[in-house]
Amino acid sequence: MPHPLPPTAKMPPARIADPASGAPFLLTPGPLTTSAEVKRAMLRDWGSWDDDFRAMTAEMRQRLLAIAGDRGDYDCVPMQGSGSFCVEAMLGSFVPRDGKVLVLANGAYGLRAAQTLAYLGRGCSLIDKGDYLPPRGAEVSAALAADPAITHVLAIHCETSSGILNPLAEIAEVTAQAGRELLVDSMSAFGALPLDVTEIQVEAFVSSANKCIEGVPGFGFVIARKSTLAAAKGNSHSLALDLYAQWQVMNTTGQWRFTPPTHAVAAFLTALRAHEAEGGASARLARYTNNRDIVVAGMRAIGFETLLDDAWLSPIIVTFFCPADPAFDFARFYAAMKARGFIIYPGKLTVAESFRIGCIGQMDGDIMLRAAAAEALAELDVRSAAPPEAAKAARAQLVA
Ligand SMILES: *Cc1c(COP(=O)(O)O)cnc(C)c1O
Repeated sequence: MPHPLPPTAKMPPARIADPASGAPFLLTPGPLTTSAEVKRAMLRDWGSWDDDFRAMTAEMRQRLLAIAGDRGDYDCVPMQGSGSFCVEAMLGSFVPRDGKVLVLANGAYGLRAAQTLAYLGRGCSLIDKGDYLPPRGAEVSAALAADPAITHVLAIHCETSSGILNPLAEIAEVTAQAGRELLVDSMSAFGALPLDVTEIQVEAFVSSANKCIEGVPGFGFVIARKSTLAAAKGNSHSLALDLYAQWQVMNTTGQWRFTPPTHAVAAFLTALRAHEAEGGASARLARYTNNRDIVVAGMRAIGFETLLDDAWLSPIIVTFFCPADPAFDFARFYAAMKARGFIIYPGKLTVAESFRIGCIGQMDGDIMLRAAAAEALAELDVRSAAPPEAAKAARAQLVA
C-alpha cells in the first residue's frame, strides 16, 4: 500500500519567523511571535521616573481604553508580572473579603481562578464544565438564583486550554439581570475578539502584553470601572498586587508603584501602534480567523480532527486530537515540526491526548503549516492522523 502521506520533498521551505536568528514561529498562545519592530523597540533603556517613560505609560493606558470602547467610565491599570498576577490582583482588589465568586470553568484557566480565590480566602462556587463544554446563560442564571451570597461572576473569555470561545455576551446578560458583578479573564481574547465596555456589562477585565496585542511578556493590565477602582481601597490582601494603590500612584505621579518592565512597555507601545495601523481589533480578528481557517482546513485535509465543533472553534488557538496510530509520539512530532520552523503546544485535556496550534502572533496564512505537519507525520511513519474512537465519542457530546 502506498504511504497515504508521502513526504512532500518538493515543497518550498517553510518561512522562518526571524531570518536573523533562524527562530521558528511560535504557534503558541503567548509568548508568541512578535514583529522585528517590536523587538527593536527594546534596544534602549528608559528611566522609570523620566518624563519620556511616563508619557509612554500614559499613551499605553489611553490606547488600551480606546480598544475597550471606553467613554470615560473606566480606567486602565497596568500591573507587573504575567497574566496570572493580574487575575490575582483583580480578584484580591475587587472581591470584598466577605464576597463570593461564581467561577465558570471549562479548562485550566477557570480552575486556576478558583484556586486563586482559595489562596486569597475569598468565597468561591464553581461551575465546572470539564474540558470543552461552554457555560451557558441558563445555568449561570440558575446558580445565581440559588445562592444569594454570590457577589461576582468570573468568566473566561477564550479558555486557552481547549481554545473554546465562551459565550460572554450571554453570561454578561444573565449576570447583570441577577444584579451581580462580572469579572472577565480576557487574557487571550482582548485585542482581537470584541470586548466593548459599552456593550458588555463588565466591572473589570484583565489581559496581558504577550497575547493578541503581540507584545513581549512582563506585565498585564486591568480595565475596570473607575467606581470599582475607587471602592477597592483597603481591600487587597497583597501590597504588590493592590490595584487601588497602583491606580492612585499612577494617576498622581504618572509612574508605576514599583520597578516597571520598561523594555516590555516600550515593546508593547510599539505593538499597540501597529495594532491600530493594522486596523484595530477587527482587522486582527480577520487575520487570526484566516490563520485558523487555513490551519484547520490543512490539518483536516491530512486526517487530523479538532476537539471542538466548528461553532466553538476560536480564532486564537485550536486543539487537535493526537492520532490513534501507535507510531505517533508527541515529543517526536514536536521535534519534527520544530525542525520545519514551527513550535507547537502540548494539549491540556483529560479526555484524550491532544496538542494545540496557536493562530495568534505576527504571522499570516502563508505559513505552510500543512506541508510541515504532513512531512512530520511521514517522518514518524504515522499512516493515519485519525484520533482514537474514544476521543471522537467524547466530542460527540458537544455536538449533540
Ligand atoms: C495566558 C492566559 C492566562 C495567564 O497566564 P500567565 O502564564 O500567567 O501569563 C490566564 N488566562 C488565560 C485565559 C490565558 O490564556
